[in-house]
Amino acid sequence: MPRMQKRPEVETIRRKCVACGKIKEVKYKEWSIPPTKFNPNKGTSPNRIDIPGASVKYYCCFKNDDGTMECEYSA
Ligand SMILES: [Zn+2]
Repeated sequence: MPRMQKRPEVETIRRKCVACGKIKEVKYKEWSIPPTKFNPNKGTSPNRIDIPGASVKYYCCFKNDDGTMECEYSA
């Protein structure tokens, strides 16, 4: 039997949405990474979460084209 192909799975997590303040399923993350510390071309680079100064914001929805969040309107 062929091996099951492993797909990159997006884990379902629940966090407080920065835009609407509700604890909801995270659909979108926005990373803030110090530009000098992050080199995506480097094979040995650590996970983004391990980078000092890196932070992430969680959203329960996606960003609109104008930079606002979808859930802000329904909050
Ligand atoms: Zn939200």
